[in-house]
Amino acid sequence: MGILEVKGVGKRFGGLQALGDVNLSVEENSVHAIIGPNGAGKSTLLNCLVGKLIPDTGSVMFEGQSVLGRKPHEINQMGISRVFQTPEIFGDLSVLENVLIPCFAKRDGSFRMHAFESVSREGEMVDKAMAMLEDVNMADKKDMNSASMSRGDKRRLEMAMCLVQEPKLLLLDEPTAGMARADTNNTIDLLKEINEKRAITMAIIEHDMHVVFSLAERITVLAQGTPLVEDTPENIKGHPKVREAYLGE
Ligand code: ADP
Ligand code: MG
Repeated sequence: MGILEVKGVGKRFGGLQALGDVNLSVEENSVHAIIGPNGAGKSTLLNCLVGKLIPDTGSVMFEGQSVLGRKPHEINQMGISRVFQTPEIFGDLSVLENVLIPCFAKRDGSFRMHAFESVSREGEMVDKAMAMLEDVNMADKKDMNSASMSRGDKRRLEMAMCLVQEPKLLLLDEPTAGMARADTNNTIDLLKEINEKRAITMAIIEHDMHVVFSLAERITVLAQGTPLVEDTPENIKGHPKVREAYLGE
């Protein structure tokens, strides 16, 4: 059994069946990519895993426990963290302050601005946040205003904000979208390192096949809300159905 087990998940938006009957099993410590054309339902699926959407049918089990009916912050506490397509950072805060927010949220169950205002600049939380910034090579940028950073740095900051919560499963929705090649390659290295050193399982939605084939051990191809195939990268590359549905051949 995988760390994440999705069975028969369906989701309808009015007249549109965004997800039909999705089954997905993500092995612990693996990197599992979900690919498919625009509108295939990839983001909808991710939203169903983090409690942002409630599926109409099916089940989602994480470490043997159902996530359905739980609020996003409860699912987050279970050990599922999500990285958005556009980095979600607080632009008017410094790099360090951004990483402190999830530290407090993790400890207190929620984040309150006044707790943050009164925090001493020393102490355990700051140490933890700084150690995380060291890991993503951003310690020297701790006092920088985060709004003015490059896309790659924003992504690394967001990753630090996720990792500091010590998730077991990291969900990534197009983490390299809009990045230059160098930033994309840095992100690949960072994700590899996170997966290997921290033993964090990853489910990644990605358009860039270079990223997919550099990272994934298993690939699920989603088309029109239903998985077409699930296989190893080697087999996916040559799969006629995939070439037809995804690569447009
Ligand atoms: P992908 O991430 O694979 O590009 P999405 O999951 O974003 O696809 O979307 C799947 C389908 O569901 C698309 O046709 C999209 O327009 C539709 N959709 C997504 N979210 C909503 C929503 N909140 N309300 C209505 N339709 C939606
Ligand atoms: Mg999407």
